[in-house]
Amino acid sequence: MVTLLSYSLGLVQKGLTTLEEVERVTFTDTGLEAELKAKRKSSLTCRCCQAELQPEWMDCPYCMTPRFAD
Ligand SMILES: [Zn+2]
Repeated sequence: MVTLLSYSLGLVQKGLTTLEEVERVTFTDTGLEAELKAKRKSSLTCRCCQAELQPEWMDCPYCMTPRFAD
C-alpha cells in the first residue's frame, strides 16, 4: 500500500510538486488526519465479520477473530 507521504515524495522526485507542497498537504489536517482516521476506522472493524469493535477489545466477540493477527 502506498501512503500519502511516499506517494507525495514520488511526485517531488518527478518534479511534479514541491517539498513545501507535500509538507502542507501531508502534515495538516487534510492529509495526515484523514489517513490516520481511515487507519483507525479500519482497525476498529472486524476483518472477518465487519462488526464494529471497541478499541480495548483484542478479539472480535462475535466471531473470535483476533484484531491484530495477520
Ligand atoms: Zn468478527
